[in-house]
Amino acid sequence: MEIESMVANSALIKAREGGGSKGRSWKWKEMLRFPQISQCRQLAMNIERDYYSLCVKQPIGKKLFQLFCRSQTDLQNHISLQDALETFETKSDEDRREFGIYIIQRFLRRYWAPLWTSPCLCVDLHKYLSGDPFMQYQESMFFDRFLQWKMLERSPITKQTFRQYRLLGKGGFGEVWACQVRATGMMYACKKLEKTHVKKRRGEAMALNEKQILEGLDSRFVVNLAYAYETKHALCMVLTMMSGGDLRFHIYNIGVPGLDKDRVRFYAAEVCCGIIHLHQKSIVYRDLKPENILLDDNGHIRISDLGLAVRLSEGSLVRGRVGTLGYMAPEVISNKHYGMSVDWWGLGCLIYEMIAGHPPFKSRGEHARTSEMERRIQTEQEAYSDKFSKEATDLCSLLLTKDPNQRLGSFSGGTEVQSHPFFHKINFRMLEAGLIEPPFKPDPRQVYCSDVQDIEEFSSVKGVTLDHIDNNFYSQFNTGSVPINWQNEVCRVFFLKSFYCLYDSDS
Ligand code: ADP
Ligand code: MG
Ligand code: MG
Repeated sequence: MEIESMVANSALIKAREGGGSKGRSWKWKEMLRFPQISQCRQLAMNIERDYYSLCVKQPIGKKLFQLFCRSQTDLQNHISLQDALETFETKSDEDRREFGIYIIQRFLRRYWAPLWTSPCLCVDLHKYLSGDPFMQYQESMFFDRFLQWKMLERSPITKQTFRQYRLLGKGGFGEVWACQVRATGMMYACKKLEKTHVKKRRGEAMALNEKQILEGLDSRFVVNLAYAYETKHALCMVLTMMSGGDLRFHIYNIGVPGLDKDRVRFYAAEVCCGIIHLHQKSIVYRDLKPENILLDDNGHIRISDLGLAVRLSEGSLVRGRVGTLGYMAPEVISNKHYGMSVDWWGLGCLIYEMIAGHPPFKSRGEHARTSEMERRIQTEQEAYSDKFSKEATDLCSLLLTKDPNQRLGSFSGGTEVQSHPFFHKINFRMLEAGLIEPPFKPDPRQVYCSDVQDIEEFSSVKGVTLDHIDNNFYSQFNTGSVPINWQNEVCRVFFLKSFYCLYDSDS
């Protein structure tokens, strides 16, 4: 490894270790100084007074609403019950029963008899809290503090918001860099789209589509978008940092190609949850392949690169020969209309490749022509070596069914895939709650991507001038912080430890 790469890597590793509050700038207090409450009037008038959004969905809002409730004697039990119900969701199946009994004994018998008969506790609890308590909250200083945080959330985002570390990879329109928010120390990956490249290749709609789809998602199995902003030369998407490398790297670059069966099952299950999340939002992903599945520090995966994803309007289908050769479903190749089925085909390809160490329609090291690949995908039956268990063979062949209407996942969606015997050992409730320990944890001292100098430099485009029509598009893109993710970042750094910071601006 060259010296340049070693320096870049060790700077990144050090930043990662210090990630969180240790890595934040000594000027962070200045950066996060609350505005005067009088400056929040406009916001107070315009903000939508929606209980669910303000007190449940937005992390800072939720925290402040809880603090408000804790400050009112008559609401303390409600909030303790809410906490207990949330804790209940994080309990393993074995511990749930006992904890459930505890909840019933502690809260329902003694304090709140009417709820005892209620079939759906959570709904009733929120129904109650969204009434008078929510009204009182909006008159309290806790809500003022919330507005101040909202003002900070809306501060403009620029290059100066971040520190930049090493280059992580290269994409179609630009580079991806590791970066760190100065005010909080949080690490992210910044995907840059060079304005001139976007313009030359007419990528405006695609860039905006990716950004808009990402900002509407909130899943632990898909990368999150925390910020979207622009610099003089680039449009930037700041995404969940995935330090563990992509699945392609893990399948091919560490020993014999392929992964052991526990890892295959675990990654397949998490990807399946990610796809289900996208499909629930009517989004077809269309680009499932090992390269696009990234690992985080702990070894959980997220789906990334939503450049080809599309949102379908209700009941409709799309057409378009997009995706990556070798992973496209037969109905995509033959240019038919299609829906969610193509992602189940993609999952089949992915599971196959993780087990076999090569994709289903190409042998190792082979360079098949496009037309040949297409012919195989449409007509050939894939082969299963003895690396495949009975369940794995069965699942892959059901997912790799050529007719999209007969394919597994096309009848009743993802649950059908999740209940296949291949996933017998996976508890999907616990998996969705993030409670399952990954079978492999990336080494925190290793950087799982190509050396800096091996990533080709991004060529510059000449002869493209940017004008006011471009500016219109840039301003649609440049929306700054994505509320929920920004608030999560802030909560992680400040609220876990002390309640004081949240309360007192000069703490
Ligand atoms: P494109 O859509 O242009 O192909 P990608 O989103 O695939 O761009 O990103 C290009 C490369 O950057 C990826 O192959 C990967 O190496 C790296 N990368 C992208 N997103 C992340 C992330 N969230 N964390 C770490 N590395 C990333
Ligand atoms: Mg890509
Ligand atoms: Mg892309």
